Amino acid sequence: MLRKAIYPGSFDPLTNGHLSLIQRGLKIFDGLVVAVLMNPSKTPLFTVQERKDLIRAAVGDDPRVEVDSFDSLLVTYAKKRAIHTVLRGLRAVSDFEYEFQLANVNRKLDPEFESVFVMTGEDYFFVTGKLVREVASFGGDVSGMVPPVVAEGLRAKFAGKARRGS
Ligand code: ADP
Repeated sequence: MLRKAIYPGSFDPLTNGHLSLIQRGLKIFDGLVVAVLMNPSKTPLFTVQERKDLIRAAVGDDPRVEVDSFDSLLVTYAKKRAIHTVLRGLRAVSDFEYEFQLANVNRKLDPEFESVFVMTGEDYFFVTGKLVREVASFGGDVSGMVPPVVAEGLRAKFAGKARRGS
């Protein structure tokens, strides 16, 4: 039986922290579904399609990684996909409380649901999507924090915004 897990997140955009987690996850699972959350209450920098394209480009054509999106509760999506294991990352103690709550709520909603936590590589524990967006918006160098294709995407995004004056 192939063991698969869903790796959900906003991935706005994918960082080297996410990528490190995907690589670690592939040592535990036979396959991963990297699932981009469409959150209507947030205004993301990249559209869902752009985020999916950046993930695919960064991961390459590894057949063990599927890139998808969802706009429902995670447990609903997991049931639909018949995959009951979710991969999450822990960067620091600060991530723990939220992840602990989330894992417990999800297990209440679906008793079959299991969360697997993986620590980030020490080089990337400080990297967050928010930090990357902020640094890039001021023209800072994000090349150590994101894959090259994402750095390029950020440059294009902020060049476009500057042209439009937004
Ligand atoms: P972010 O918080 O950076 O915007 P997401 O909301 O997309 O990222 O996070 C999805 C999952 O990836 C979460 O479990 C989060 O803890 C994990 N994650 C994000 N960045 C890192 C990192 N640098 N190292 C390890 N895990 C991470």
